[in-house]
Amino acid sequence: MTLKFGVIGTGAIGREHINRITNTLSGGKIVAVTDVNSEAVKSVIDEFQLDAAIFPDDHSLIKDPNVDAVLVTSWGPAHEQSVLAAIEAGKYVFCEKPLATTAEGCRRIIEAEMKQGKRLVQVGFMRRYDSGYVQLKRVLDSHDIGEPLMIRCVHRNASSNENYTSDMAVSDTLIHEIDVLHWLVNDEYQSVQVFFPKKTKHALGHLIDPQIFILETKAGIVIQAEVFVNCNYGYDIQCEVIGEDGVAYLPDVSSVVTRKEGKRSTEILVDWKLRFQDAYDKELQDFMDSIRITGKPNGPSSWDGYIAAITSDACLKAQQTGEKELIQPVEKPVFYLNTPRFSFKQY
Ligand code: NAP
Repeated sequence: MTLKFGVIGTGAIGREHINRITNTLSGGKIVAVTDVNSEAVKSVIDEFQLDAAIFPDDHSLIKDPNVDAVLVTSWGPAHEQSVLAAIEAGKYVFCEKPLATTAEGCRRIIEAEMKQGKRLVQVGFMRRYDSGYVQLKRVLDSHDIGEPLMIRCVHRNASSNENYTSDMAVSDTLIHEIDVLHWLVNDEYQSVQVFFPKKTKHALGHLIDPQIFILETKAGIVIQAEVFVNCNYGYDIQCEVIGEDGVAYLPDVSSVVTRKEGKRSTEILVDWKLRFQDAYDKELQDFMDSIRITGKPNGPSSWDGYIAAITSDACLKAQQTGEKELIQPVEKPVFYLNTPRFSFKQY
């Protein structure tokens, strides 16, 4: 069975996903596209030589009986309406983060999905598919380093553009740590506080950079997460889990070591797209495979999108108040408990 995709949003990540579904992965085909920018649609059809219909908007694309699954890669504020319309039409949805820009929006999606009675939505939290994080989770789940006590992690970009604002340190950057860290340690967040160290000379005037987020979990794990988007040297993701019996590190991206002119050196990636390229491939392949095999997606769910939204809301509030902000405790509905959990074993 080939899963026929309709794509809403043909910008940077939309094109990447269209390319991988068309040229790298198996079991999927792009049959429909829409974008508010009609030039972007035309160029994507030409570039990837797609045999796809062009629709004027998301609603008409979703209604097309030829579309089995919807890929939502438009900008964040447009996600909720597309995901809700797709659920109402009974179509599968792969939605890039954020699922919705507010926790209430995510709640509406959860309620619509539960009303449909079947899991339809997967959220693009690709780090759960990254082989480094999967290996780290295996070590933690095996209790090889005992109970985790502290986590130190780093999310650095070489530079940010003028559209990147201080709140985007949460909604665009930290959001990936928010999703992957609680999954890593099977725990829930309880509170967050934000600290603003001395500002780098490389950040534009309007931007607070770097920022440090201190998150505490229900079990008492303290997480120190650094967001530094003008670090000036590359794209660098680090994670160190300190346990009772030892310490486990996210593996570094492998890179050739050179010895030259009195120096031993390795390259550091600069482009974020390259760091998680394999994870993007795996998340979409898993989306297609699990629908084919089990009739529903198996990866990060709308519930995970909701948890990320309530946590990021608290982080945004903590940026404003400077105080420790509590993260609203929520009970996972049975609907999502019964969902087959993401199985990292296959990767
Ligand atoms: P982008 O390059 O700006 O692309 C978004 C595209 O969607 C643009 O062509 C935009 O048109 C179009 N669009 C906006 N509203 C629309 C609507 N209502 N219907 C149809 N098309 C619409 O942004 P991007 O970098 O691809 O990001 C897209 C989404 O993916 C964002 O939510 C982002 O957070 C997420 N993302 C996730 C990752 C990840 O690591 N998982 C990485 C990158 C991006 P205009 O340009 O005319 O506005």
